[in-house]
Amino acid sequence: MKKYGALEAGGTKMVLAVMDGEGTELQRKVIPTRTPEETMPEMLSFFIGEHLAALGVGCFGPLDLNPASPTYGSITRTPKLAWRGYPILRAFEQALSIPVALDTDVNGAALAEAKLGAARGLSSCLYLTVGTGIGGGLIVGGEPVHGLMHPEIGHLLLTPEPDDPAPAGFCPYHPHCAEGLASGPAIEKRWGVSARDLPEDHPAWALEASYLAQVCADAMLAFSPKKIILGGGVMHQSFLFPMIREKTVRLLNGYIPVPAVEAGLMDYIVPTGLGDQSGILGAWLLARQAEASHV
Ligand code: ADP
Ligand code: ZN
Repeated sequence: MKKYGALEAGGTKMVLAVMDGEGTELQRKVIPTRTPEETMPEMLSFFIGEHLAALGVGCFGPLDLNPASPTYGSITRTPKLAWRGYPILRAFEQALSIPVALDTDVNGAALAEAKLGAARGLSSCLYLTVGTGIGGGLIVGGEPVHGLMHPEIGHLLLTPEPDDPAPAGFCPYHPHCAEGLASGPAIEKRWGVSARDLPEDHPAWALEASYLAQVCADAMLAFSPKKIILGGGVMHQSFLFPMIREKTVRLLNGYIPVPAVEAGLMDYIVPTGLGDQSGILGAWLLARQAEASHV
């Protein structure tokens, strides 16, 4: 039986799995993310000896994904300083001597949702996670989008709402970007209460829905994805979905005359189809692609 390695590399934890050709998990291990010197040997000892056909890595970023770049496959400007500049792709390739594919965690999750989840059968989708940060993975023509770098939809610049008590938001790079205004920590900093503990009738949620609607409307105008999938811890507040749909329709103001919008975006802005499995399944799909492109 062929086996594939899958790694969901996050800022706080690493989820490692060995999977078969059908995407069934054979083994899983979760370890805390420390420095590369501490974390890499532990990850390698999990994968070494498994005789993997390939490894797929969905990683926090930003990443250098330009094959022509001398630092291709490295983590770039991350606030996790120990990982800044770390050549994660090369480190796995050299230690395991197997094909390795690297993409952003959110591009991986978007790929899994497009192939197996809420956007199954569709050639394009946007996957947005709203958690510790905001990240967007974009699939177009069945493939994750790379370009100058890779999309950083979580840092789209938004229009601050007039009733926002913290209209500049909290991103160290940009005033009023989506992550700075609407991530879980942004909600907590603005209101002094964890997003988990804010009651449903708190004004935080109308504001949150407004910002996420701006992201959805902008993404629809810029990329025209066939579906938008919202995941991450904050989206556990499922009452946000109808609020976001309604506000997105209002922002578009009749400009996109397609049935999905006319139906109020009910089947268009949706929760994940794979729940918290989209990251690891995305890494597995990347491993399958790495194998296919090395034959
Ligand atoms: P990460 O982004 O680190 O992978 P999560 O997606 O769980 O992890 O995001 C964590 C953030 O989401 C925290 O800021 C937390 O306050 C918020 N969060 C987690 N669960 C909930 C919940 N049920 N309701 C609202 N916010 C939540
Ligand atoms: Zn930002």
